[in-house]
Amino acid sequence: MSGKNKATIAVRSGIEADKQHGAVVAPLYLSTTYSFADFDTKRQYDYGRSGNPNRDILAETLAELEGGARGIITATGMAAVHLATQLLNHDDTLVIPHDCYGGSYRLFTSLQKRGLLKLKVLDLTKQQSLDQILEIKPKLIWIETPSNPVLRLTDIKAVTEIAKQCGALVAADNTFLSPALQNPIKFGVDIVVHSTTKYINGHSDVVGGAVITATQALGDELAWWANNIGITGAPFDSYLTLRGLRTLNIRLKQHQENALAIAKYLEESEFVSQVYYPGLESHPQHELAKAQQLGFGGMVSFDIKGDIHDAAAFLTSLKEFSLAESLGGVESLICHPATMTHAGMEEEARLEAGVGDTLIRISVGIEDIHDLLADFDRVFNLVKPGYKKNESHAGKRAGVSNNNVKLSAAHPALW
Ligand SMILES: *Cc1c(COP(=O)(O)O)cnc(C)c1O
Repeated sequence: MSGKNKATIAVRSGIEADKQHGAVVAPLYLSTTYSFADFDTKRQYDYGRSGNPNRDILAETLAELEGGARGIITATGMAAVHLATQLLNHDDTLVIPHDCYGGSYRLFTSLQKRGLLKLKVLDLTKQQSLDQILEIKPKLIWIETPSNPVLRLTDIKAVTEIAKQCGALVAADNTFLSPALQNPIKFGVDIVVHSTTKYINGHSDVVGGAVITATQALGDELAWWANNIGITGAPFDSYLTLRGLRTLNIRLKQHQENALAIAKYLEESEFVSQVYYPGLESHPQHELAKAQQLGFGGMVSFDIKGDIHDAAAFLTSLKEFSLAESLGGVESLICHPATMTHAGMEEEARLEAGVGDTLIRISVGIEDIHDLLADFDRVFNLVKPGYKKNESHAGKRAGVSNNNVKLSAAHPALW
């Protein structure tokens, strides 16, 4: 690390990189090929899949923000997840958490079915699972903290200590907090993975991913694979993602300030049965969050009172929150995991992961908090979640018949 602070790194990295004209912002290099300086004399870049200046500035900036040795920019977050699995041979075991991102879960289990790796699914929030790891002797342990959508935390240091004892590598999907709020390498993690689609780009207009390694050697190995498979990120995507990254710190400050206000509001609400946010003192892992995170993030989940019809009426009546999957953009999004992000899960596994019919997940944006809370107030009072239809309160539903909200069959795609 340069010793500079993160907000400065994010803003300054790659500024004045252009030596030819002194452009303050690095120009966009779309060229797929680069001339040789002379016979047998390659310049820094030769071909766009293998190397590109815009991609490199983004990679170096993210590596510095995470405190890693090397960054690799991939076309999507899933490409970054897949890239990490290139370290595994068919007889190597990968340990994954039972509640990891659904797309990652689908990828890992598909690779296992084809015999490309061995897989062990554990609840990594339990000490008993950590003890089991010593017997499994995996090559790679995957962690994702906080988890989606009920924001359970994994003790990063506890996992890396176990990993050291059995010679395993540890990879952490750091998408939910971004490098502004959590740096797993500091706690002994070897590989950090990001879907830059979320907070890093932050404007819901680029799909991308990144892998950051603690050591140069691991970074070189994975960069070789990224070029080999051909999953490196596009120049324009890298350019836009770097532009988004410039404001990462200031955005995250507002995201989490709004998220905490919403979590506290929901905790007080008579229409809510439970709130999940690591920034609340009532969160069972609040102390762990304070110890390993630099903030509590912008994601809040809660169980609304009543049933799926109350959830549906609530979600479709909001005006300041878009009913949509994904997260991390400046605009507030709200989703119903059971029928949206987690619709592909078997019901039993879904309930086990804490994703019931009344669970609602919010990606809290950076709008004025008064407008967000006013929207909640209006809709809670309109829908009155949890009041039975045949009770006298029913009349207070004022035009909202949550009975009639059409519930289409859960779509099979995960995202
Ligand atoms: C979105 C997401 C991914 C996958 O990233 P894409 O950019 O959609 O391919 C992986 N992990 C987490 C935690 C995510 O939220």
